[in-house]
Order: sequence, then C-alpha cells, then structure tokens
Amino acid sequence: MTRDVGLDDELPDWAGAKEFYQKYDPKDIIGRGVSSTVRRCILKQTGKEYAVKIIEITPERMTPQQLEEVRLSTVKEIEILRKVAGHPYIITLIDTYESSTFMFLVFDLMKRGELFDYLTEKVTLSEKETRCIMRALLEAVSYLHSNFIIHRDLKPENILMDSQINIKLSDFGFSCLLEPGQKLRELCGTPGYLAPEILKSSMDETHPGYSREVDLWACGVIMYTLLAGSPPFWHRKQMLMLRMIMEGRYQFGSPEWDDRSDTVKDLISRLLVVNPIDRLTAEQALQHPFFQRYEKEEVRHFSPLRKFRVAIWTVLASIRIYCNYRRVRPVTKDVLMRDPYALRGVRRLIDACAFRIYGHWVKKGEQQNRAALFQNAPKAFVLMLASEEEEEGEEYEATALY
Ligand code: ADP
Ligand code: MG
Repeated sequence: MTRDVGLDDELPDWAGAKEFYQKYDPKDIIGRGVSSTVRRCILKQTGKEYAVKIIEITPERMTPQQLEEVRLSTVKEIEILRKVAGHPYIITLIDTYESSTFMFLVFDLMKRGELFDYLTEKVTLSEKETRCIMRALLEAVSYLHSNFIIHRDLKPENILMDSQINIKLSDFGFSCLLEPGQKLRELCGTPGYLAPEILKSSMDETHPGYSREVDLWACGVIMYTLLAGSPPFWHRKQMLMLRMIMEGRYQFGSPEWDDRSDTVKDLISRLLVVNPIDRLTAEQALQHPFFQRYEKEEVRHFSPLRKFRVAIWTVLASIRIYCNYRRVRPVTKDVLMRDPYALRGVRRLIDACAFRIYGHWVKKGEQQNRAALFQNAPKAFVLMLASEEEEEGEEYEATALY
C-alpha cells in the first residue's frame, strides 16, 4: 500500500519503514546523493527488481531547518513525480513510504545506470546515438513544460538508462511547478549546466528572473557534451567558467567536431543562446532538421527509372570508394610516432586508456578539460557568488553549487 506523504501529516513513527521492509528486500547501493542513498531492492512477492531512494531525515545529522528543507523538497519531488508518472521517457515512481527518520521512494530499476557513466565508458557518442537520446530527452522536457513543470537539474547524471539503452529522466529534486508568466530567481542547479539568466538574476536585483528556457540551455550543454566528450563551458576557476556561460562563450574547437555535421552544430548553437527569448523551445528543437531528416520512413512505389538511377549511383559510389581506398596512406610506424593523436582511432584509444589510468579525463588544450565532467557532485544546492574574491585572483575549482 502506498503511504501518502503530505505536508500536514503527523509523522508516523516506524510504521512506514516497517511496511517497506516487509514488502521489499533492500540490496546493494547503486547511487548516492547529499541526503539520499539509492539501493537496488526486490519486491518479495514477485522477485522483481526495483530501485529505492532512501532519504534520511535524522535530527543527529541536520539542523531543524535543514530537516524541514529536505522534507519539504522531498514532498515536492513526490508530488511532481506522481504528476508525470507513466511518460515513456520519465522515471516512474512506484511506491512511497515514510517513517519519522526516513522516506522511501521506490522506482523502476534502470539497469544501465547513468548516461554519465555510459558516456565516460564510450568517450563520445555518435550523432545517431545522440539523436536517439536527445529526442527522448526533449520529448520529456516538452511534456514537463506543457504541464508547467521545470526540471532545473538536467545533466547526464540524472538521465538513466535501461538494459536496452533507452533513457528516462530522473531526479526531480529541484523541479517546480510554474504558472504561465511566473519567473524564478533562486540560484540552483549544477555549475556547468546553469543557464546565463540563472546566474544573472542572482547577481542583479533588477533582472526579471528566469523560466522554463533554462532546461533548454541544459539540453544544449548535454548535447554538446555527448558529442565532444567534454563540456562546452569549463575553466579551472569557477568564476571564469561562470563568466564564459554568461557570455555564451564556447567553441566547436576540439578534433571531435571535425567529423560532426553542420546540422548538429546548428541545433546546439540554437540551444546555447544567451537570450532565453531567442532560444529554441523543446517543441521547436524537436522540429529541427537534425531530428526531422531521419524521422519519416518514405513510402516508395516501384519505379524502373528510380531503380536504374540507384544502380548507376551504386556503381559510381563503389568506384569512388575503391579509388579513395587506394589513395589512403597506410598507418606506418613513422606516422604513429610523429602524431598519434591525429589518428582518430588511436586518439580514442589514448583517451580511453588515460581515463582508466587517471580515473578522469586528461586535459587536451586550454579550452577543454574532461575532468570538469567529474567535478559535479551528485546533488547541487545554492552558490554564493563572491565576485570580489575573483578580483583578488583566488582560485575556484569547478564544483557543484552547495
Ligand atoms: P539525488 O537527488 O541525490 O541526486 P538521484 O535521484 O539523482 O538523487 O539518484 C542518485 C543516483 O542514484 C542517480 O544518479 C543514479 O546513479 C542512481 N539512481 C537513482 N534512481 C535510479 C533508478 N531508478 N535506477 C537505477 N539507478 C538509479
Ligand atoms: Mg541526481
């Protein structure tokens, strides 16, 4: 039985926890947040696997104010999760239980874990795979926005994958309901994914605030990161990174971009637009040629002329491929020794080996650093922007906003 968690509820002592443990068998830890632990668990009755997010609300470890904040934000998270349950690209909340010190949120188990881990394993994704992931993500965002919900913490750590590599959006801890025309000012999210207007509204009292467009900026950052293997905005000093974001300063500069289509770069550059009014909406993004070109299966009727043309093209293409193949210079020891990083296959191999050895990406140039991907702590809170300290030349590492 699902226990309703509401703000006005008298907290039942251990009843909720007991009920959870009677029904489920908790297993290994599969994820952690600031105040939550996610475990695999098994529904005893059927043997089916689920994931349970256990949120601790123990007075020993938190001030009364923190306790209330965690409880309130979890209640809000549950409310939104229930509203969006059933969407194919959004995680489904199955059950909730509450005791005086713990809240249990049972979800579908996403066996392949985070998109973040998938990306670190693969280094970069192809345009085809990026198209699949981004289409699903934008469908989820479009659905949220049409229901007046903004997510505010879109990042590869909060996009989960099942064993067939289908994605579902999760972690609604920062999401909120937004009336049409309503604006927000609260500074929350994860640094590398923050939209310029979030930063500006927190620094300038006269700024009108931000709205749902912040999710589309984050989609742009995610899309860039999937294709390049490193984020568009990164600097060792957090303050300089935030300035790059506010100015919308990024480049398609790394070698990975040489192989990418203009269409995909065009979509990214229409998402990473500083002025939120000029940024694509989720619906508009889904109409972009990057998605359109491959969507419709053409219905073709038999035509002898078309068959003839296809045959001619096939022969010409075969000749061209054969000639090009003959022209390709072999990879000799000399080429390998001189500039191994220039060879795409070797480049990927080097990157993957470096990751295995160092546990994080190595710096490839002044503009990009894959280590940035690993400096976002699992849960982000509020950042105090200390601009004076930057002027004093103090160094800020790019960490999550606490
Ligand atoms: P937090 O709000 O603390 O970031 P999340 O809801 O994002 O909590 O969960 C933390 C991590 O737990 C996720 O990033 C993911 O690795 C793992 N996780 C959460 N839900 C699931 C799930 N349904 N299936 C598999 N792993 C999950
Ligand atoms: Mg999370």
